[in-house]
Amino acid sequence: MKRYDFHIHTEFSYDSRIKGVELLQKAIDLQYDEIAITEHLDLLPQELSIYGLPSLSRYCAYIAKLQRDFPAITLHCGIEIGDYHLVKEFAKPLIESFELFPILGSVHFLKDHTNVAILLSSPLTKAQVIDYYENNLRLVSECDIDVLAHLGVYKRYYTEAAPEDCVLPLITEIFRVMIQRNIALELNFSSLRKAYQSVIPEPQYIDLYRSLGGNLFSLGSDAHRIDHFGITRLAESLIGEHDTPIKRVVTK
Ligand SMILES: [Zn+2]
Ligand SMILES: [Zn+2]
Repeated sequence: MKRYDFHIHTEFSYDSRIKGVELLQKAIDLQYDEIAITEHLDLLPQELSIYGLPSLSRYCAYIAKLQRDFPAITLHCGIEIGDYHLVKEFAKPLIESFELFPILGSVHFLKDHTNVAILLSSPLTKAQVIDYYENNLRLVSECDIDVLAHLGVYKRYYTEAAPEDCVLPLITEIFRVMIQRNIALELNFSSLRKAYQSVIPEPQYIDLYRSLGGNLFSLGSDAHRIDHFGITRLAESLIGEHDTPIKRVVTK
C-alpha cells in the first residue's frame, strides 16, 4: 500500500510550526510515497480580520520550490478551505487560477459562531451537533471539494462523544452525497493525539460509509507540529485492499 498523508499544515498556516524542509526530509526518511501540504484558507470575516488573506501565488511558489529541492517524493499543493459553503462566492474566484490538489473542505464554525475545532468550556448541545452536521451536508452538496476533512472534529477534545443517534440520518445523507459526487472521506488522526483517542470519523461510520458503497478514502494526520507527522499503523490498517485512494474531483 502506498504511504501517504494528505492533510498537513506547515509554516504557511498561521497555526503551524512545521518547516516545509523538515517535513519533506522526515517524509523521505519514513518512506512516504506522497504527501500533500494543505494550508488553511479561512475566509470568514472574523478570521480574515485576524489572520489576513494569504497569498496563494507565494504559497504555490513555496510548494514548487520544495518539490524541486526534494524530488524523491511526490508533493501536492493542497488547501484546506474552512467553511467553504459560507464563503463560496469569495473563495471560488480566489482559488480558480491555481493548481490546488487536494482541496479539503471542513466545517469549523456553527451558525452561532462557535468554533468546533478548538477546546470548548462545555460540550456541544444537541442543537449544535445537528447544526454541525447540517453544515457538513451543505458543504459536500454545494462545494467542489476533493475530500471532506475531519468529520466529527468537535468530539476530539472529549473522552466520550455525545450520542449521535439523532444525526444518523444526516450523516447517512452526507455519505450518499459524497459517494455520488466522488468526494473522498478523510480518516483524520488529530483526535488520536487528543482526549478522544479514536480516528474520526470512527470505525462505525467508516462501516456505514462502506455499506452505502463508499470506497474513496484519504488519510490525514492534520499535523501542525513535526512530531504530529509520522506513520500511524492504525491509519494503514483502516484502509482496505479494495479502497481507492482519492481522485481529483475538482477539475478546471
Ligand atoms: Zn480543520
Ligand atoms: Zn487541518
